[in-house]
Amino acid sequence: MARDKLEILVVEDEEAIRRGLCDVLVYHGYAPTAVEDGESGLRQGRSAQYALVLLDIMLPGINGFDVCRELREIRPTLPVLMLTARGSEDDILAGFRAGADDYVTKPFSIAELMARIEALLRRSGQLQRENIDPFPFGDWSILPGELRATRDDACVDLTPRELSILGLFFKEAGRIVSRRTLLAEVWGSPDPDALETRSVDMQIAKLRKKLGVGARRGTWIETVRGAGYRYSGH
Ligand code: CA
Repeated sequence: MARDKLEILVVEDEEAIRRGLCDVLVYHGYAPTAVEDGESGLRQGRSAQYALVLLDIMLPGINGFDVCRELREIRPTLPVLMLTARGSEDDILAGFRAGADDYVTKPFSIAELMARIEALLRRSGQLQRENIDPFPFGDWSILPGELRATRDDACVDLTPRELSILGLFFKEAGRIVSRRTLLAEVWGSPDPDALETRSVDMQIAKLRKKLGVGARRGTWIETVRGAGYRYSGH
């Protein structure tokens, strides 16, 4: 796809990782700008229009959570992808509360990183969306082209919104999906904060009922308190 190079801000204090990230971004056709502390990250984020920010949490001076919170106020629609330590669910939850859109855990694979970046850029309308093929959801088969879910003899109609939610959970199976992400991706709101997250909860409740999936841990769509939802896969 021909396009102008999208600019990405990298805020990371570890030089090897910072350089690695920039090399990968350049290789994939993006224009990275790298800074090594929170103050510089905020200054850059304020002064220039970036397509996305890659934000480390442990930074000298202002940490990544505070940078995220402040950037969120200045640029509500700027996608922020956090870099977190592996296995630190507390950091992930704190990041979502600070307004981050998504996360990758270090050490990350290049494929994982680029998939996260591209998903956020599509979500924010900066990359084009691809078509969605049929996919499984629990014991249902979801047929996007027909707006339907089928299971054995059962068949239910889906609204475009329900289809988007299922597609998002499928793509993010096993990962926490924040309400903010749901609002941005499914409701397509340029300013997700302007919408009540209650509409997300109501929609999820309806969908659980329709497909007969539960709300508790271990069922298909689990509520992660204070953070969002997680599709457990099957
Ligand atoms: Ca760090």
